[in-house]
Amino acid sequence: MAADAEWVVGDLRIRIDATLCVAFGECVTIAPEAFRLNDDGVAVFVEPHRVERGRLLAACAACPVDAVMVWDAQGNRLVP
Ligand code: SF4
Repeated sequence: MAADAEWVVGDLRIRIDATLCVAFGECVTIAPEAFRLNDDGVAVFVEPHRVERGRLLAACAACPVDAVMVWDAQGNRLVP
């Protein structure tokens, strides 16, 4: 099973929990520059730094199973 993946983008720290992702693909639909589904049907990062902050947060928040978590630089949880 894939390990959790984490990426720091600007003031955001984003984590994908591969054990929760069920490949609905909402994150990919909203921000295809940032996320894609790998061969196992799990969301992985592409180039999240290419996506503006608001849309990136929206893509993370769109996950119906809360598999994407986001914290700001102070450690405050922004998503979910
Ligand atoms: S929206 Fe959530 S469940 Fe769907 S692919 Fe993205 S991380 Fe996985």
